[in-house]
Amino acid sequence: MDKIFNNTEVAFALKSDTELDRAYFLFKMIASEPLVRIGTAVTNFAIKAHLPVEGLIRATVFDHFCGGVNEMDCLSVVDKMYTKGVSSVLDYSVEGKEEETQFDAALEMTLKTIEFAKERQAIPFAVFKPTGLGRLDLYTKVGEKQILTAEEQAEWTKVKERFEIVCKTAHDKDVALLIDAEESWMQDAADDLVESMMRQYNREKVVIFNTLQMYRWDRLDYLKALHERAKTDGFYIGMKLVRGAYMEKEHERAKEKGYPTPICASKQATDDNYNAAVDYMMQHLDKMAIFAGTHNEESSYKLMEMLQANSIAINDSRIWFGQLYGMSDNISYNLASHGYNVAKYLPFGPVRDVMPYLIRRAEENTSVAGQTSRELNLLKTERDRRKGKL
Ligand SMILES: Cc1cc2nc3c(=O)[nH]c(=O)nc-3n(C[C@H](O)[C@H](O)[C@H](O)COP(=O)(O)OP(=O)(O)OC[C@H]3O[C@@H](n4cnc5c(N)ncnc54)[C@H](O)[C@@H]3O)c2cc1C
Repeated sequence: MDKIFNNTEVAFALKSDTELDRAYFLFKMIASEPLVRIGTAVTNFAIKAHLPVEGLIRATVFDHFCGGVNEMDCLSVVDKMYTKGVSSVLDYSVEGKEEETQFDAALEMTLKTIEFAKERQAIPFAVFKPTGLGRLDLYTKVGEKQILTAEEQAEWTKVKERFEIVCKTAHDKDVALLIDAEESWMQDAADDLVESMMRQYNREKVVIFNTLQMYRWDRLDYLKALHERAKTDGFYIGMKLVRGAYMEKEHERAKEKGYPTPICASKQATDDNYNAAVDYMMQHLDKMAIFAGTHNEESSYKLMEMLQANSIAINDSRIWFGQLYGMSDNISYNLASHGYNVAKYLPFGPVRDVMPYLIRRAEENTSVAGQTSRELNLLKTERDRRKGKL
């Protein structure tokens, strides 16, 4: 497969020189693990203490990783990316809420993004997080088959209703819907709900996509078992395949509670597991659709190679590549320029509410996680290219 991801002219065509410089300095900053650690603690404190730091956050990390504070802010970004063939997934990234009114607000926002997606070719998917529609602890209790109080039972009924409303709306409006995956201890309950939605709404094609975090060693078996049920009961399977974003939390909880960690034994094992899931789904594309949510170049090349080897059109509607806004533009824009289906998650929400999302991005981009040096090198290459140094 031709190596296409090093073309920085294509990757950063939409970035002005100033934006390029800003991105470079941002990644330089978050490359430093101590700086991210201290920055995170200070920012959390400042937000809790209601100190006026939102302007600073907006001017730095927020504007780089988010489309705006509301859905309307995002539209200019959506249109701009689409001029280069890169689609958007509007991602309401407000996290960690606990109140019923907040879950209802997230439901309304998700319905709005489904409407946006219906109206715009540039937005091929809607998305939501299960804990946007219900409490994490409640998912955990349901997943562990604990006895619920009458109050909790009523609360869980509301969660199921919210799932039903979102999935039915997506189905009726013919908008594909991605459902994110989160901490493993809440995921069983979410998986059961998503499967019941697939059974209802994926009868003719994939509308509902669940997410498999392939850093979990049990996920390939889960996929295979789900496939058996889908064959018997006649429904399609949509999966977003990611590696997973909660590794430290997973290790910590497993250690604290004394159960084996659900995470693969090494990075290599996660990579192999990820690629095995792509491989499995590619072999069963007659009943499956893949959204490959990854910034890993090798995994992206592997999927491209599989399309070629199986004579599947590069813009086949069952295959999508996905990256996060503000990351791996070299993958997104180069894939799009060659005609592949690519969508970037475009997070939005009030600055203080998207902080957990931003902190995950900062942590994943420290030098420890190893993404940053690639981003920095690409940004530097493009700056040099523009200055005529290359
Ligand atoms: C479009 C999109 C949607 C996403 N949706 C979700 C979602 O719903 N839920 C979610 O959890 N994440 C989600 N993510 C985030 C995703 O999980 C991270 O971006 C991802 O982990 C980074 O991995 P990568 O595939 O880009 O590859 P790489 O950068 O090659 O891999 C890094 C990942 O490998 C794994 N890893 C690293 N070290 C080890 C180790 N020692 N042992 C085992 N595994 C290791 C971790 O998962 C780490 O994040 C999404 C990402 C994208 C692009």
